[in-house]
Amino acid sequence: MLRDVEPGSAVECVHCGERVKFAAKMRHKQVICNVYVRGRWDRVEHFHADCYGEAGEPHGDVDTSSPLRQRNAASRAS
Ligand SMILES: [Zn+2]
Repeated sequence: MLRDVEPGSAVECVHCGERVKFAAKMRHKQVICNVYVRGRWDRVEHFHADCYGEAGEPHGDVDTSSPLRQRNAASRAS
């Protein structure tokens, strides 16, 4: 039987181990990294944006083509 996919399904931040949620009201942004091993997709890792920086950007620069970054910052309610 079909099951609904939960858009807010919880994932854990690889760096701090706390949950990363898709909550728009959260001030913090998240970083989603597709991890490739030997040229093949292996897994997705999630980070809080701050944690990604603290971890030393283990997967390189954040892909800025993602709509999550500047746009959220620009539209953030003050
Ligand atoms: Zn974190």
